[in-house]
Amino acid sequence: MRLRAWSFDLRLRHTFTISRGSRDVVPTVFVSLEDEGIEGFGEASPSAYYGSTPQSVLASLEKARRILESADPVPYSALIDDLEAVVAPDMAALAALDLALHDWVGKRFGQPLHRLLGLDPARMPCTSFTIGMDTLPRMVEKAREAAAFPILKVKVGGPGDVEMVRALREVTDAVIRVDANGAWTAREAIEKSRALKDLGVEFMEQPLPRERNAEMAGVRSASALPVYADESAVTAQNTGELAGRFDGIVVKLVKCGGIRGALRQIETARAAGLKIMIGCMIESSLSISAAAQIGPLADHLDIDGAILTVNDPFSGARIVDGRVEMPEGNGLGAAPRAGQTT
Ligand code: MG
Repeated sequence: MRLRAWSFDLRLRHTFTISRGSRDVVPTVFVSLEDEGIEGFGEASPSAYYGSTPQSVLASLEKARRILESADPVPYSALIDDLEAVVAPDMAALAALDLALHDWVGKRFGQPLHRLLGLDPARMPCTSFTIGMDTLPRMVEKAREAAAFPILKVKVGGPGDVEMVRALREVTDAVIRVDANGAWTAREAIEKSRALKDLGVEFMEQPLPRERNAEMAGVRSASALPVYADESAVTAQNTGELAGRFDGIVVKLVKCGGIRGALRQIETARAAGLKIMIGCMIESSLSISAAAQIGPLADHLDIDGAILTVNDPFSGARIVDGRVEMPEGNGLGAAPRAGQTT
């Protein structure tokens, strides 16, 4: 297989702020794997928080080139094992290669990935729409703009966050979920859970930093709301430490190394009695389409990353008023937009 990789800056519609910081531009890395005249595409969504940058991903991908040059991509599971061995621990690079291989195999056999996996698109949950941290008037304005979405995910963890959710509740009847990105203490999480429950919040995501997982059993038992692990839930290997401390986990392709890693993490979490939310980074419709292909395995979806951008170089899964339309094409079902150099 011939490997090509290139970096690309996704530009955001609004400055995106969470409890760890703000961004206007999100650099990503795309991959193409070509064989038999068929091209599979993947995306890395590097994140410094998980230890990767566009430069480190491009360097990891170079380590995979020799293996790919002589590889037979049809027995792709064995090939992903070989690729993981050379790019580890760079899960973002592995995710890009894994996505491109799944895309290639689906195109090679003329089927969308969800069909190869035996999944029913009718079981796709609705996705939430994310409202980043901002001034109260701007957050209220964003909630009004997102009126068609049945579920809002609100970034919290700043001063006055419960009051902010109260103000949003006055302008929306949508289901509200909150994500503190690890900004709270155990005591804050427990206290805020009670006020948030009174405001009709459904659950809270990552209340404490991932270094404080051990405190989560106490938070979970005292919390008025279910708690989901995002930063604390990375791959299938660390699922065991989450059972009893969380009610569910957030699976993201870039954290766990792509489709295969996500399937493993979902199976492991289900066996441990954890609920599943499939989430995303700020990423293009290529990664969002990949997440949509396995969307029917989730209890909840949070895959609005591409609609927060203004220069998405791929088309694929469409999101209409929170409903996720399974893309129709083979493989991941995404394609470069006309005029995009790929
Ligand atoms: Mg999160």
